[in-house]
Amino acid sequence: MLYLFEPTPVVSVPVVGHAEHYPVHRIYCVGRNYEEHAKEMGFTGREPPFFFMKPADSLVVVNAGETGHMPYPSLTQNLHHEIELVVAIGKGGKNIQAADALSHIYGYAVGLDMTRRDLQNEMKKQGRPWCIGKAFDHSAPIGPITPAAQAGDVANAEIFVQVNGQDRQRSNVSQLIWNISETIEHLSAAWELQPGDLIYTGTPAGVGAVVSGDTMLGAIAGLGELLVQVA
Ligand code: MN
Repeated sequence: MLYLFEPTPVVSVPVVGHAEHYPVHRIYCVGRNYEEHAKEMGFTGREPPFFFMKPADSLVVVNAGETGHMPYPSLTQNLHHEIELVVAIGKGGKNIQAADALSHIYGYAVGLDMTRRDLQNEMKKQGRPWCIGKAFDHSAPIGPITPAAQAGDVANAEIFVQVNGQDRQRSNVSQLIWNISETIEHLSAAWELQPGDLIYTGTPAGVGAVVSGDTMLGAIAGLGELLVQVA
């Protein structure tokens, strides 16, 4: 095949204990999936899960033990951190039932769904798509993927993020409104999932702003740490 110009390289994420990287297909994200976060955003109750996407090349891939760098994005005065459990799909499918969902998971990672909150809020107000608030360049920092068998009890794992050493968000994955299996059931009813699909599963309460120079330390028990500096 001849191309007019060099195709965009495949984006991939390192895998704990493996030389092979995980090649990324799509990034799905779940909105308002922890009750306390839904409340802080002005909502209540268990609404059906809803989804948005980020481009695969919005990932900021951070190796274990390293500090990633994300540039402070354009057009915003209110860049928010959202610490999230990321599910890495290993076996695709559509209309996956919750009871079968775990068999479709390759592994898990710590991720940050970085958000230009002012732009997202403006789009919400106008009933417009969230793309400019959510799907910008470098908006999806992620640490290495831990294969499911080595990840421990992810469904009951503590999740937190600190900014410059101060706690901002601290919760437990057990507080998800729609758990991992239910999320996969809903998502795969709308799209056929593929190996390489990442799912950012939503963020707990405590979202807030970061500024240039801040360092975010995110972690999920069993999945290690994600260290990212806003440049
Ligand atoms: Mn989020």
